[in-house]
Amino acid sequence: MKRDARALEASLGELDRGLLRRRRATLATAGGAGEWPDVTVDGRRAVDFCSNDYLALARHPDIAAAMAAAAVRHGAGSGASHLVSGHGVEHARLEEELAAFTGRARALLFSTGYMANLAVVGALAGRGEHVLLDRRCHASLIDAALLCRARLKRYAHADAAAAERALAASGATCALVATDGVFSMDGDCAPLAELAHLSRAHGAWLVVDDAHGLGVLGRTGRGLLEQCDLDEEAVPLLVGTLGKAFGTFGAFVAGAADVIELLLQRARPYAYTTALPQPVAAATRAALRIAARESWRRERVLMLARRFAQAAAELDVPLMASATAIQPVLLGSPARALRAQEALLQAGFWVTAIRPPTVAAGSARLRVTLCAAHTEDQVDTLVETLARICAQECA
Ligand SMILES: *Cc1c(COP(=O)(O)O)cnc(C)c1O
Repeated sequence: MKRDARALEASLGELDRGLLRRRRATLATAGGAGEWPDVTVDGRRAVDFCSNDYLALARHPDIAAAMAAAAVRHGAGSGASHLVSGHGVEHARLEEELAAFTGRARALLFSTGYMANLAVVGALAGRGEHVLLDRRCHASLIDAALLCRARLKRYAHADAAAAERALAASGATCALVATDGVFSMDGDCAPLAELAHLSRAHGAWLVVDDAHGLGVLGRTGRGLLEQCDLDEEAVPLLVGTLGKAFGTFGAFVAGAADVIELLLQRARPYAYTTALPQPVAAATRAALRIAARESWRRERVLMLARRFAQAAAELDVPLMASATAIQPVLLGSPARALRAQEALLQAGFWVTAIRPPTVAAGSARLRVTLCAAHTEDQVDTLVETLARICAQECA
């Protein structure tokens, strides 16, 4: 694009014409943190049904207190990258606890999940090698493959047979297969057992980004890998994010000692950025403890998701098939999705429309997410409202 006001205007105009321009809503909790998920959205009261705070930990007072205490003790900032002088005791303890939680030898902290994915793909796949990704995997995995100049191939969504064909076609040059565990915009799950078998057979690394499964799925909240009974041998690299079910911020990669050591040595998104503030690490440690102790949180969010899905199916709401806390309602066009978003807000529910390029053209949706703090009443009223809105939209 030329440095030219008209070129800028034309780009923004194009977004407007496609109803694809994003607008940020400003949220506030009406009566303090304890009120969540009751919020105000640009001044209007609503129940938040689209955050990733599945276990309702992001505003938990004990976690906030752990963060505040660590800030007083260690300061607000870490002052340098991990490899210089930014690596503190809270980081070290959190890494040990994450390794124990995931049942792996080592875990390495990153500032964000986006960076963790750039790091793991970039450290293991070289220029010209193949990287295979599920067609609907998170944007950060795609960007990771592009950044390291690997040859990116995408296989049909959640289709292990398609992955096998792509693996066979790339022969010995396939370095790595990567997928979301629970897909972030769809709520369905990757065929992990099959992918584990295939990648092992072809000598390729398997990276599973379980941003939306960890904390929620599995008997003890260890995510989709626990639900599928897969160990480190099956899935050598597990990426987890801390800003979703654990309610704080940051991410990690867990695996065997040597592969994590290679990441530490080689990954540019690890070396060339300031370490996460220690108060964030301290808050995450508190969140891990609460999530482990209070199993009712994950049981409740999954119970509410089942309740939502069952009621929505009975009322002909166009749900996408999902057994997780992510329950998308498929509307098709951005216009429909935006009208439904506005009608829901009028009725007191905040669910943002998800539009291309976040999802494929023609598959704009309302991405409803459940959380442990929702009441049964809120869920039931949301479904009734959605049924009314969808009936109007489809009439
Ligand atoms: C949110 C998300 C990320 C990015 O994590 P951040 O910590 O928010 O940068 C990566 N992968 C998936 C699947 C996600 O949903």
